[in-house]
Parts: sequence; C-alpha cells; structure tokens
Amino acid sequence: MKRFLPGNVSRNRYGKKAAALGSFFGAAILCCGCGGYPYAGGQKEPVQSMDTAMGTMISQTVYTEQDAVTDGILQEITDLEEQLLSWRMDTSELYRINERAGEESGIPLSAEMADMIERCLTVSAASEGAFDITIGEVVRLWDIDSWAGLEETSGFGLPTAAELREELSHAGYEKFRLKDSVLFLPEGMQLDMGAVGKGIALDKVREYMEQQDDIAGAVISVGGSVLTYGSKPDGSEWKVGIVNPRETSANLGYLSLSGQWCVSTSGDYERYVEVDGVRYHHIIDPATGYPADSGFSSVTILTKDGLLSDALSTACFILGQEKGSSLVEQFGAEALFVDREGNLVMTDGMQQYFHPYR
Ligand code: FAD
Ligand code: MG
Repeated sequence: MKRFLPGNVSRNRYGKKAAALGSFFGAAILCCGCGGYPYAGGQKEPVQSMDTAMGTMISQTVYTEQDAVTDGILQEITDLEEQLLSWRMDTSELYRINERAGEESGIPLSAEMADMIERCLTVSAASEGAFDITIGEVVRLWDIDSWAGLEETSGFGLPTAAELREELSHAGYEKFRLKDSVLFLPEGMQLDMGAVGKGIALDKVREYMEQQDDIAGAVISVGGSVLTYGSKPDGSEWKVGIVNPRETSANLGYLSLSGQWCVSTSGDYERYVEVDGVRYHHIIDPATGYPADSGFSSVTILTKDGLLSDALSTACFILGQEKGSSLVEQFGAEALFVDREGNLVMTDGMQQYFHPYR
C-alpha cells in the first residue's frame, strides 16, 4: 500500500449553505494523441466525437478508417440504456422487471440480464452488501436523478429517517432469488443498476469494437468511466487523468495504460446536493440508507472488466480503504483512494500505472 502526503489540494467546499450540485467525472482522457500520427500507412487523424447518453457525456477517440464508427459505438450505448438498463424508460428490461416485483411465479430474464445480475450478486456478497442493486427505492427517495437539473438546492426536501427505514426494510440482495434465469423479486423491492451501467457500457463497446475489422486503437469515456482499447499509432500509452475531488478542474495525476483496461471512479463530488452546509452525495450506504461516510472523497478502480470496475468503485467508496483493498484483491483489480484531506492511498499493483502530479 503506498501513501502520498497531501499536496496542492484546495480547501473543500463544504462550507456553503446551499449550493447547486456538481457533475464532474472521476477520470478524464488526456493527450489522446490527436496530433496527426501516421495511421495504417496514411496520415489519418483519429475520429472523435462528444455525445450524451445515460444522462452523461460520451467522449470517443478512435483510430480507424471508418468515419462512422463513433455512431455505431454510441448506438450500442443508447441501445443498452433503452433496451436493458434504464429504470425510467418503459422500453427497458429493467423497467419491466421492476413493474413485476412481487409476482410469485417469478420473472423470466434474458440471458444477458441474468448474467449481469448474477455478477452484481457476486460483488454484493463479497462486499457484504456495500454494493447492492436492490436499493432502488432508497435511491428514488433521495431523488438523485433530479439533482442534475437543480440550480439551487434550498428547496430540496431530504427523506426522513422513517421513510429510509421503511424502504430499506424491502431492500437486501440476500432477499431475492435468481434461479435458471428466473428472478423472484419481492414486493416493494426495486432494482437500480446506476452503479454498474457505465461499466457495462464499456464492456459492450469493447465487444462492438472487437467485431469491427479496422479499429487500431480507441479511448472511450462514458461519464468518466474510461475504456482503453488497442494501441495508438505512435505506440505511446493512453493517459487517463484522475480528478482532484476538491478541485475538479484539476487532476491529481494520471494512469498510463496500454489497451483493454477499464477505469471507473466513484466520488462524492460527481453528484450531490448541499443543504444547510451538509453535502449529500449519491453513493448510499445500504446499512444506513444515508450517503456513505467512510472518510474518502473518491475511489478509482482499474481492471479489465467494465461491470466489475464500476461495481467495485461503488463498493470501495462505501467500505473505505482497508476493507476495499482486500475486496479488490479478491477480484484481481487495483484501487486508488483519495481521502477528504487529499491523501492518496493505493494498492501495490496500482503504483506502476499511476503518476502523481507532484
Ligand atoms: P457510482 O458509484 O458508479 O453509482 C452511484 C449510483 O448507483 C447512484 O446514483 C445510485 O443510482 C446507485 N447506488 C448508490 N449507492 C449504491 C450502492 N450502495 N449499491 C449499488 N448502487 C448504488 N442521470 C441523469 O441525470 N439522467 C438520466 O437520464 C440518466 N440515465 C441513466 C441511465 C442509465 C442506464 C444509467 C446507468 C445511468 C443514468 N444516469 C442518468 C446516471 C445515474 O443516475 C448515476 O448518476 C450514475 O450512474 C452514477 O454513476 P457514478 O459513476 O457517478 O457513481
Ligand atoms: Mg460504480
């Protein structure tokens, strides 16, 4: 485990009475190598695009001969949202699952959804419920989706302790069963895959790119969850910046990566409201129903699997560094924790990838 002393980390912004929320991304693509490197024998620039999907920014830099490839990648992400993961669009499988909570005969799932839920359950069990997709109703009580549109939070009504207790009593990954792709979802329980959706999108995008003939390399960011793929024409590594949680326009350092990595960050600055000087962020501790309070401002996970990177970043944010580090070890992933004072702690394996700016 390696520790860095606090450096040029700005004072936090907790002092505000009631502030508008922030929406920043834990990791950002740096120096994509857009300087006209020779590509496939020519002088081709990468194809680049910036779009929105899943309520967030999708940024793409792709070294390819196909100019339309970014449209195909974006389509994969919007299909994933509309057909599988959205909890608000009635076109999605997740929406239909939630509508059928309480059905005694169970809900037959697509093979893809069954596989995703199984994998989420594995992380829930390993994290002793810190990561738990069954807290949908608790998340709805906090009304997290609406925070992105708020200018001011002065009128924001916090859920009461009694409301949280009531919804928590219906949640708990150990209370639902998945057998032979049939899900038994108890009455009152709702699933929320907001903590893994962006990571699953990275897996989908990688599969899509593998099916294309002529993508040499790419770096794709789905709301700050980043996939590196293949290589750059000049052979240099992809650089993924790690945002300073207390000065979100600056980076603490960067990861230097070859292709095929996924980087996901969970941070208390990505989505929050401040009410009467208290910050309420969007990562909920299922043990209490309140925003997690483990003393960390962000956790970044590095692994080759998108769903896992996203699930582990949420779990580790809640568990903190000690338990979080042993969790990531079980999954062969690496982690970088930033505490509220700006101290960095990382797993031994992360040290070879992370380059601090100090
Ligand atoms: P993460 O830590 O990865 O996840 C936090 C999110 O996971 C929370 O927002 C909550 O939904 C859930 N969660 C909280 N605590 C836990 C826990 N302990 N265990 C499991 N899950 C937990 N945002 C919009 O504003 N508008 C949209 O239309 C919109 N559509 C979306 C559609 C999809 C399919 C997805 C995946 C996301 C969408 N989002 C949208 C963004 C979403 O609401 C979250 O803000 C985002 O997924 C959080 O990602 P994160 O990396 O910041 O945090
Ligand atoms: Mg996550």
